[in-house]
Formats: sequence, structure tokens, C-alpha cells
Amino acid sequence: AAYRAADDRYQRLEYRRAGNSGLDLPALSLGLWQKFGTDYPFETQREILLHAFDLGVTHFDNANRYGPPHRGAEKVFGRVLRSDLAPYRDELILTTKAGNPIGPSPYLKGGSRKSLLVSLEHSLRDLGTDYVDIFYHHRPDLSTPVEETVGGLVSAVQQGKALYVGVSNYPTERAHDVAELLRGAGVPLLVHQPRYSIFDRGPENTGLLKLAAEDGFGLVAYSPLAQGLLTDKYLDGTIPASARAANSSFLSPDQIDDLYRERATALNEIARQRGQSLAQLALQWVLRQPQVTTALIGASSTSQLDHNLAALDFPPLTEEELALIDQHGIH
Ligand code: NDP
Repeated sequence: AAYRAADDRYQRLEYRRAGNSGLDLPALSLGLWQKFGTDYPFETQREILLHAFDLGVTHFDNANRYGPPHRGAEKVFGRVLRSDLAPYRDELILTTKAGNPIGPSPYLKGGSRKSLLVSLEHSLRDLGTDYVDIFYHHRPDLSTPVEETVGGLVSAVQQGKALYVGVSNYPTERAHDVAELLRGAGVPLLVHQPRYSIFDRGPENTGLLKLAAEDGFGLVAYSPLAQGLLTDKYLDGTIPASARAANSSFLSPDQIDDLYRERATALNEIARQRGQSLAQLALQWVLRQPQVTTALIGASSTSQLDHNLAALDFPPLTEEELALIDQHGIH
């Protein structure tokens, strides 16, 4: 049946301004890193994407690398865009990234102008769109002059192939250099995409949160559920056959150990006292920082999406609760 987006889709979610820009992003955004490729039924992927949009999730995060295979997730999104979401293209924030290796060629990795711009062109073909909303350099490449990488990002915008640019996984100092160079070129850095969760406090410890406020860019916090570790699914010590820890090379079953279970159980108890789940607590925790524009989640079902979006219905965490979380969430 032809898809028609839910009429009430903008009544559910909160939208937050990305840094000093004019662009609002939904507080929760959906990434296509895992379970969007050839390893999962297409109909399920389509259902998750359309359900997300019906809930007001306008921002879909992609990369040339996502799949499997590499480029698979962009092809899947392109298929859903063609069949269902094309009439809503103006209401979508689509991203892609380049620079994380996707093959042995020297031009399928790094931060060269060549690597960035050919990858973007390829992503646009796979996505079936004339432009992405945000084009990212996926990870720092210290062997390439930062001016060249920035030049590639600026060209993407000048060529009309991206509306905004971002960087991901950049150390704080290099992010500042990029922000300054981009500002000088008239293409301000919109967002930085770091990993951030109760279990990974990187952006707090490296000064990235502070820099975001100073340089005026937003943070897109990825893996806010620590890939599922900050949910209750592994608490009893077993690993469900469909779960990421059972299926993905990025989450090892070895991480489900006694120390993990002890910490997650304690955090789960704090959540329970608030009448919510650990996943919901973990999302609220990331979003408590004003510099965090959006928490970028993954989902393998529509029910996970429903459950996680309900995080926004709970009162903010108190100082007391935050202190308790610190006792259990720091490595
Ligand atoms: P999360 O930490 O949100 O983990 C999501 C996974 O946790 C889901 O796929 C699901 O896995 C499980 N899960 C989610 N909700 C629940 C729930 N309520 N109950 C039980 N399990 C749940 O984020 P991801 O690690 O998936 O990363 C999100 C996005 O961030 C990516 O898609 C990508 O766009 C981006 N990212 C960017 C990176 C970068 O280098 N820039 C690196 C990594 C991610 P399952 O059901 O399979 O167990």
C-alpha cells in the first residue's frame, strides 16, 4: 500500500537547535549503521524507517560504510526514499560520511579531497537524491593537511551537494582547527559526531562539550545506549540470539561480564526507581547536556523505537540521580 506519513508526526518529539545554526534536529535520531543492509529483511528495515518518520524522526544518519556490505545501508535508504519517502524529501535531514575505509583503494579512505568528493557523489547515486543535508568527514586523518579536508567539505557545499558539514570522531583540538577554517570559508561547522554515553564519557573528559559551546557547533551523540549494553536485555547474563552482542563484530560477548552486569544492574535499579527503563534513563542522561543536539540511536524493531522515544516523557534527572549514576557508570 502507498505510504502516507502520520498527520500528527510533529507532535511527538522535541526538536533542538544545532549549535549556532538555524537548523533544528529531533532530540532522537535514527542511524543505519547496523541492521540496515543485506543481513536483515528489507521489509523490516522499511517498516522501521517509516515508523521513525511517523514519530517525527526527521534525521537519518548514514555513511558510505554502513551495511553490510559497505554502501548497503545507503542503497536500502535509497530504495525506501524512492518507494515511500520521496514526497517528504523536504522534511528529511539525510546525512552521509566519507573517510572511513571501505576498500583497499587509497581513494576509498582518508581525508583527501579526492576521497571525500568521489565518495559523496557515489552516496548521492545510492541514496537517489541530489543533495545530502549533512556531509561528514567520518574520522580524522592526520596524514592529510586539515586545509585539504576542510576544502573538500567546503566544495561539497559550494557544489550544492551538501547543505551543511560535520566531522566525526575528531579529537578536540583538531575539531577546533576545522571549526575555525570552516568559519573562515563561510561554511560553519554544523555538528561534531562523537560517541557519548553513561559508559563512555569522552566528550566530557576531552573538553569537547566545552568546545562545542565555544565554537558554536552541536553534538550528535552516537551509541548513547552503548550498542545495547545500556538496556536491560543482557542483565540476566544471557545473550539473545538476535541481539547485537550475538551477531556483530562490533560488540563482543566478552563485554557481557560480571563487572558489566553489576554496573548495569545498579543503573537499571536507578531507572526503576524513576519508573522507567535503563534505555530511557541512558537517553535522558545524554540529552541533559545542552550542547547535545540529538542522541543518535539504532533500532532493530519498531517497538525499540517506541520504547526509546518514550524517554522524552520523563522528568529530567536530578542532581542526586546524576551523582548515583556516576557511581556506577564510570570505568
Ligand atoms: P545505540 O547505542 O542506540 O544501540 C542501538 C542498538 O541497541 C539497537 O540496534 C538494538 O540492537 C539495541 N537496542 C536499542 N533499543 C533497545 C531497547 N529499547 N531494548 C533493547 N535493545 C535495544 O546506537 P548504535 O550503536 O546503533 O549507533 C547509532 C548510530 O550512531 C549508528 O546507526 C550510526 O548512525 C551512528 N554511529 C556513528 C559512528 C561514527 O563513527 N560516526 C559509530 C557508531 C555509530 P539489537 O536489537 O541488535 O541488540
